[in-house]
Amino acid sequence: MITPVLPTYARVNIEFERGEGPYLFTPEGERYLDFGSGIAVNLLGHAHPRLVAALGEQAGKLWHTSNLYRVPGQEKLAERLVAATFADSVFFTNSGAEAMECAIKMARKYHSASGHPERYEIITFEGAFHGRTLATIAAGGQKKHLEGFGPKVEGFPQVPHGDMDALKAAIGEKTAAVLLEPVQGEGGIRPFSNEQLRAIRKICDEAGILLIFDEVQTGMGRTGWLFAHEPSGVTPDIMGVAKGIGGGFPLGACLATEEAAKGMTAGSHGSTYGGNPLAMAVGNAVLDVVLEEGFLEKVRQTGIKLKQKLAMLADEHPSIIEGVRGEGLLLGLKCKAPNGDLIGALYGEHLLTVGAGDNVVRVIPPLIVTDAEIDEAIGAIDRACAKLEAAGAGDTDKKEGVA
Ligand SMILES: *Cc1c(COP(=O)(O)O)cnc(C)c1O
Repeated sequence: MITPVLPTYARVNIEFERGEGPYLFTPEGERYLDFGSGIAVNLLGHAHPRLVAALGEQAGKLWHTSNLYRVPGQEKLAERLVAATFADSVFFTNSGAEAMECAIKMARKYHSASGHPERYEIITFEGAFHGRTLATIAAGGQKKHLEGFGPKVEGFPQVPHGDMDALKAAIGEKTAAVLLEPVQGEGGIRPFSNEQLRAIRKICDEAGILLIFDEVQTGMGRTGWLFAHEPSGVTPDIMGVAKGIGGGFPLGACLATEEAAKGMTAGSHGSTYGGNPLAMAVGNAVLDVVLEEGFLEKVRQTGIKLKQKLAMLADEHPSIIEGVRGEGLLLGLKCKAPNGDLIGALYGEHLLTVGAGDNVVRVIPPLIVTDAEIDEAIGAIDRACAKLEAAGAGDTDKKEGVA
């Protein structure tokens, strides 16, 4: 019999009642260390006092007015995002998929408004993930997400990850844009190098097409920079953001240059809830904390420490962990044993992590994580690996990993 909650998720049989910083507590009072952050969402941990206060204060004043009227919180957050990034303008959404839908529509509209409606194709890279709407599953191009949902939305050719020659060959008269995650998240913490990002920017400029970054998972300080593309010196024309931007409150955004946004006139796009006052109160509070002097520098330092300690564990447990990859606090353990086995063993140690493609376990703690909490997590991973070794795991590539 079908469950009342549509069974689209393979859930673990654990529930949580409350959270505090990087910890989650079950109704029985068992404590878990959360190094999954609700899939890179709880940027500042659970029940951060500044976010709780901002949401509480707004909840007592006004929840929703619609986008028929000015929303002061939107104007404030948009101005601040514009000041902090390449962008000139921002559209607010409730999720990452909607941020990417806006990015896709905007890229198509840009060329249409430029007199080239035939330019509607957006080239993506294998291993991509851009959401679960019809257009974003087409952009992601993953069979397991497209299967059974009818004709794939047209216009999303895909090339192998990082293959510049294939990218150049794929660009033609119908091309509108190139879309990529600076570090693929669901795909298994697979980064583009700064050189690759610069090369792709150049290819796009020469072809007169737009460059779209999906920073839904990598953005808002996760990699130690406000946005992951910053160290490359390259900027996109359009960028989708979500996950961490609301710190756990549903919020996304599509940022763009004035030129890229030129087709998005009144009536061209919309969302009932997008930029709702509650979301804006939390979004502004998240940004207050992330932009505080020294915050991102601290994330970079913490990320280096965590990565070094994980690399030592990989050396000690080569039959379980092959290596460590990623930037800042967006790290991945490339596993030798099936990643699901390690994630399962870590539940036993009360440490939460998240699976990803390419047999990777994502280690993505809240950005407020302390050195002591990192040591606690390292101890848990060490014990989990020892238990898997004792059970004889890791010496075969028997099972498929979980994504
Ligand atoms: C999670 C994610 C999305 C989709 O976000 P939703 O809020 O689940 O719609 C899109 N792109 C990337 C890179 C993501 O990690």
